[in-house]
Amino acid sequence: MNTIDHQNKPIVMIGSGLAAYTLIREYRKLNTEQAITVVTQESGDFYSKPMLSTAFASKKDVQQLISTSAAKMMEQLNIQIHSYSNVSAIDPSNHSLLLQSPDNKEHVLQYSKLVLALGADQIRLDIAGDATDQMLTVNDLQDYADFRERITNIKSVLILGAGLIGCEFANDLSLGGYHVEVVDLADQVLGRLLPKEIAIELQSKLSDLGVVWHLGTSAKTFSRAGDGFEIGLANGDVLHADCVLSAIGLRPCTNLAKLANIKTNRGIVVNRQLETSIQGIYSLGDCAEVEGHVLPYVMPIMQAARTLASILAGHDSVLTYPAMPVMIKTPALPLVVSPPASGSEGSWTIKSVENGIEGLFYGPQSQLLGFALAGSATAQRASLTKLLPNILGE
Ligand SMILES: Cc1cc2nc3c(=O)[nH]c(=O)nc-3n(C[C@H](O)[C@H](O)[C@H](O)COP(=O)(O)OP(=O)(O)OC[C@H]3O[C@@H](n4cnc5c(N)ncnc54)[C@H](O)[C@@H]3O)c2cc1C
Repeated sequence: MNTIDHQNKPIVMIGSGLAAYTLIREYRKLNTEQAITVVTQESGDFYSKPMLSTAFASKKDVQQLISTSAAKMMEQLNIQIHSYSNVSAIDPSNHSLLLQSPDNKEHVLQYSKLVLALGADQIRLDIAGDATDQMLTVNDLQDYADFRERITNIKSVLILGAGLIGCEFANDLSLGGYHVEVVDLADQVLGRLLPKEIAIELQSKLSDLGVVWHLGTSAKTFSRAGDGFEIGLANGDVLHADCVLSAIGLRPCTNLAKLANIKTNRGIVVNRQLETSIQGIYSLGDCAEVEGHVLPYVMPIMQAARTLASILAGHDSVLTYPAMPVMIKTPALPLVVSPPASGSEGSWTIKSVENGIEGLFYGPQSQLLGFALAGSATAQRASLTKLLPNILGE
């Protein structure tokens, strides 16, 4: 049954990323009529963000990354989209928000229910030097277009950060023919996701592609030098590169929520119904925090979107998170990881298998709490996932 909310005021989604669009797709399975309005700083075209870090080697341009245009999304999902528009304030008492359209005009938009699907920003390094404005990040299609343009006709890229995004870019750009160097404060790659043994193997496979590592140190200065840049490291080394890409981590977008007095912590705090501290305002995706969990990955978004769609359609539902392994797209050494919850007691057992490594993290009662699988061992992903505890149970 289609229930129309609040005298036809739309449900408003702020954001046009995977979280907002997956939610709308799920919701439309339950309600085809309710008006929905999307407000987004982007074009509203639908694309797969994980492809941003694997698209250079295959020479994909922005148009090739867009799977459905904003116009098609409007038609297919029966929604309105305000593209290139910024929401600067929410007024919960009036069920309204303030948006700036691309022509810089301000508009007040009323909502029946509001969903914050604001994503996360790449963290910017606080660094000295005259080139800090030249440091690039890649977190959306426009960033990708800018980065692609910047690295045309250059030879070397320095990446700050050896986490998931940094390692994926290192692999992809090396395959694309660039000389790649990577700097990270930690003394191993993918420090939060991999046991040491598998991290060393990944580092070695990427070194085979030509990647040069500067681990256990950080960038302190970033200055122009001729046509390129000079990067001073805390360990005293001085590096040169034609372009610098920062991939040091993501921070959930919480400012808009804070301004509206919505409770925030690391992310926008929501309950298991994805509702924020203000009734009728919900949040999901990279910006949201559920019972202490901020999980900036695709699978948690799918879970949250199904739950919230059901709630917005008037049903009872509660968010559960099963174990949700993440694939790391480093073809030099394919990886699947499901790290144990932070602070878990236990230890890693590492076994070499033919063309792969299996890392299993066992707790004090010999229960499997996490895994990291490399190479051929990734084939065990499904069977091992079944043995892992839920992140958020019933
Ligand atoms: C390079 C890269 C590779 C990745 N690879 C993987 C992977 O392999 N596997 C995996 O599981 N995950 C991966 N991720 C993470 C995954 O892509 C994200 O979890 C997911 O795309 C986040 O979707 P989202 O909708 O929450 O946020 P976003 O896609 O960031 O969308 C946020 C939206 O909010 C809008 N917005 C924000 N503030 C405002 C405002 N004030 N007014 C109007 N609009 C606003 C933005 O314009 C944007 O449309 C990767 C991420 C990156 C960057």
